[in-house]
Amino acid sequence: VVKLAGIRKSFGDLEVLKGIDLNIYQGEHVVLIGPSGSGKSTVLRTINLLEKPTSGSLVVDGHEYGAGSTAPRGNSLQLRRTVGMVFQQFNLFPHLTALDNVALPLRSVRGLSRRDAEARAAEELRRVGLLIRAGHYPSQLSGGQQQRVAIARALALDPKVMLFDEPTSALDPELVGEVLRTMQAVAESGMTMVVVTHEIGFAREVGDLNVFMEDGVVVESGGRGFYENCTSPRAIEFIKAVK
Ligand code: ATP
Ligand code: MG
Repeated sequence: VVKLAGIRKSFGDLEVLKGIDLNIYQGEHVVLIGPSGSGKSTVLRTINLLEKPTSGSLVVDGHEYGAGSTAPRGNSLQLRRTVGMVFQQFNLFPHLTALDNVALPLRSVRGLSRRDAEARAAEELRRVGLLIRAGHYPSQLSGGQQQRVAIARALALDPKVMLFDEPTSALDPELVGEVLRTMQAVAESGMTMVVVTHEIGFAREVGDLNVFMEDGVVVESGGRGFYENCTSPRAIEFIKAVK
């Protein structure tokens, strides 16, 4: 579904991605770990074109978005519909209820009528266990609930891939579990996912492909058992530190 080949990205003189190759297949769950500043967020932001690679090629759902391709506007819109993203900060609209937060993009991006958008939004809120909170504003929801609304909002657009950037790291510890369980359910539904997280327990359960990055490169990657079997000293050290 997603293929990064030789992706490089510089901000001025600073090269933060130094040739990333990553293949993500349909239904696969990829976990991305690594120290702060290693480029994890930049990889996610490249996949949904929030950042334009300096060089290399990016293919998402059969469409090529290379550094050379001038990514016509229509294409980025196409991509926005294909790729859903959930951030560390929940990014809900504070003046809209949970239901309207989910319904709004269904109207603006998908062009659904108000009635259809609200029906679909209610269905998605049910899926994350929050239909009962549909009329609440973000300030009336816990951080965990807000994040689940954000997940529902992204899922409502029927993305081909869901990207999660440290979705639980802004949460109080007692709220982490509910969000991880929601993400686990999304994974079990067969969604293709790329997750940046320090939650090694979750990663161990869900990660079909596990990627350790440092300093803009992939140091080591592997399938099931990665957290027990990886061999590079830096990956071992990092995993020990976050566990
Ligand atoms: P963290 O775990 O702290 O979220 P990360 O692995 O997600 O780290 P990135 O956010 O991808 O790391 O950042 C990689 C490097 O790129 C960092 O050195 C960061 O300062 C730099 N960087 C990221 N975005 C920009 C930007 N818009 N302009 C300049 N430098 C940036
Ligand atoms: Mg980051």
